[in-house]
Amino acid sequence: MKAYPVAPPWPGIKLELMEDTHFDPQLPAVELRRELGERMAAAAFNRYPDPSAPALKDMMRKTLGIDAKYEIILGSGSDEVITIISQSILAGGGAVVSLEPSFSVFKNAATAVAGRYVGVSLRADFTLDVDALLATIEREQPKLVWIVYPNNPTGNLYPDADIERVIKAAPGLVVIDEAYEAFAGRSWLARLDEFPNLVLMRTLSKIGLAGIRLGYAVGAPDWINEFNKVRGPFNVGVLQQIAAEVMLKHFDTLKHHARQMVEQRDRMFNALQKMPGVTPFPSAANFVLARFPDSAKVFDGLKARGILVRNLSALHPHMANTLRLSAGTPSEVEALLVALDGIL
Ligand code: PMP
Repeated sequence: MKAYPVAPPWPGIKLELMEDTHFDPQLPAVELRRELGERMAAAAFNRYPDPSAPALKDMMRKTLGIDAKYEIILGSGSDEVITIISQSILAGGGAVVSLEPSFSVFKNAATAVAGRYVGVSLRADFTLDVDALLATIEREQPKLVWIVYPNNPTGNLYPDADIERVIKAAPGLVVIDEAYEAFAGRSWLARLDEFPNLVLMRTLSKIGLAGIRLGYAVGAPDWINEFNKVRGPFNVGVLQQIAAEVMLKHFDTLKHHARQMVEQRDRMFNALQKMPGVTPFPSAANFVLARFPDSAKVFDGLKARGILVRNLSALHPHMANTLRLSAGTPSEVEALLVALDGIL
């Protein structure tokens, strides 16, 4: 196994991890900072947190539109939710299927619990080969299928009709990872109760709160109650709960940042399309994946100019010469485009 690569702190422009860089920690209104400070100062540090997190879950239901008929499980980031679901479903072995290239944590989480990981390649243009996926499901009878919608690192959404076929064909659980839902404006939440074997996973990380570490899964209580059996009993600390609850009061601001990221994503896509030899891939997320004539040269050139992006060329054969560029602020994107012009 290889640990998930995390770059050391970067002093320059960081467009590597799809963080909300519109979120200036100095900027939130004075009242908000005071409220955060006062609520945290009053927290019962000496006590274990209430794992049912009623105030936070209530706020999540209101702001994120989660119906009372569904249960919510919280994790320290959806990374932890992936671990919890993998442990719960794959304990004792069994196959897990994920598309590739996609988020690499699915594979590590499966391998760590002796799950049999089976990757199904997307086509070279990153579209879904639904027949290949269905054939794999038929052959492997996986206990768990992961679908990232829109996909990281490619940014695309798969056709709903194809996903529906996959959910219906799967003999076990299907989890749709909607980490980038805020930018796609598309979700399976409204259709969750059509499919008894479907659970959704999301995160607050991409909408300004990556540092808090709060991810969640939503689904029928029967599924979530099973996941809860393997979750660490106090996995989300009191400070995480308070910070997320207070920040979700300002959900309109977070949504505004998401809209700004979408604007910058489209701006990057349009500019990249005009650059010689560069092929950006259409994205419904807050980043753009693009193929360059020589991605290593571009990566190094950007780094020398103080801009860190992600070089994903080695992730999968389809990813040769690709870089993933997070949608930063207008000035960060300006700096990125000027730098790319200089390098190319
Ligand atoms: N799923 C996908 C598809 C992601 O891209 C990421 C983060 N890059 C995560 C899950 C994990 O997010 P977090 O742990 O910050 O909630």
